[in-house]
Amino acid sequence: MIERTHTSAVEPDAESVAIAGHVHEIRDLGGLVFLIVRDREGLIQVVFKEEREPELFEAVGDARSEDVVRVGGEPIESDQAPGGVEIAPTEYEVLDAADSPLPLEISKDIDVDLSTRLDNRALDLRKPATAAVVTLRSKLMTAMEEWFDEQGFVDIKTPLISKGGAEGGAELFPILYYDRDAFLSQSPQLYKQILMAAGYEAVYETGTAFRAEDFATSRHVSEIAMFDVELAYIDDHHDVMDVQEESLRYAIRAVVEGADRELDLLDVDLEVPEDDFPRITFDEALNVLETEFGHFPDDPTDLDTEGEKLLGEYFEAQGQPAFFVVGYPDEKFYYMQDVEGDEIASRKFDLIYKGQELSSGGQREHHVDRMVEVMEAEGVEQANFEFYIEALSFGTPPHGGYGLGIDRLVQQVADLDNIKEAIMFPRDPNRLEP
Ligand code: ATP
Ligand code: MG
Repeated sequence: MIERTHTSAVEPDAESVAIAGHVHEIRDLGGLVFLIVRDREGLIQVVFKEEREPELFEAVGDARSEDVVRVGGEPIESDQAPGGVEIAPTEYEVLDAADSPLPLEISKDIDVDLSTRLDNRALDLRKPATAAVVTLRSKLMTAMEEWFDEQGFVDIKTPLISKGGAEGGAELFPILYYDRDAFLSQSPQLYKQILMAAGYEAVYETGTAFRAEDFATSRHVSEIAMFDVELAYIDDHHDVMDVQEESLRYAIRAVVEGADRELDLLDVDLEVPEDDFPRITFDEALNVLETEFGHFPDDPTDLDTEGEKLLGEYFEAQGQPAFFVVGYPDEKFYYMQDVEGDEIASRKFDLIYKGQELSSGGQREHHVDRMVEVMEAEGVEQANFEFYIEALSFGTPPHGGYGLGIDRLVQQVADLDNIKEAIMFPRDPNRLEP
């Protein structure tokens, strides 16, 4: 490995240091050059003085933004330097020179539109604020998986290529599978349930789902990072919501406690949602929208984007950024519905966080005969689901679960206007590159 004793987060009492990174900024003040070097931990200033180190001073005269350099020297405490330390260099080496001009500014906070940023994503990912999103995402998901590992959930992988879809044909990307038609998976739903029937009891998957709708919103992409959960021997959907609530709280706490530099960089004031998340019925949600905001969703069986946003404001004002809406009518066949004694149409819930749907889940119908009735009523082609119906027909424990959009979670945690900012290389109907 190339010798690097420290990162940019070096303490002033270190004796000598060797750091490496990209040249973030060059400030030439005549006999004095300030070279700001950027690495994964942040920025560090190297001060070249003509009088003190004439040879290095001459060499740094050729430095360009984004060169990759290695600097050895002595750390000196400095109030003006980022991080409070600067380096007086004794070694300076260019590991690779960058072309110029850069198609996208890295160091200056210039407002560029999102499509320009994404067109130049390779450079945009170098920006400290973009890197902060990547780090937040990594910390969130590490914590999320940690929670499920600790609770004894099994880490699974379900297939991404399938014969049919779990949700519906129009949303599927067709592919050529040898000499047959197949599709990219839109959800691990059916497989998670098969695993419940098989006795795995508690599983999670950090996976990928594909949706082929022709959307143009700030919260939809074509390739989605999904966190899926399924657990068995539940009493009802509340057991599933408990898991979702506790794991989300844990992941957000990990970020609040472990990513303050990133949150500061993004100017995000993140609170751990400590209080129990409110759980309101779909009818109560409609009622709040009507009486508080005079808002009526177009589709009487679902909340629209505006409805979610308004409910978000309503609960935010009560100090509750996250809440569940429970009991959507006319749900897909795999949800348990019209249960005698329930005051709700189905045991399906959505989790809404900062005014946007983050996950959908609920208790599933584990009695195959009842599920087949709903399939018939909904006009679902049973032939496409034979492997699933059969798997569930040999004894299936009561179970439920949810699918959480990881990209949306990152979007909401980092307060990003557009979901694509949360994804390194997003895919949408118009973007297949980079
Ligand atoms: P929406 O109503 O917001 O379009 P959905 O109800 O169709 O989402 P689900 O099938 O419930 O989505 O998928 C579970 C989760 O996956 C959603 O709550 C969301 O977080 C995420 N998700 C679904 N579709 C997309 C998409 N196209 N882009 C980004 N995330 C998505
Ligand atoms: Mg949903």
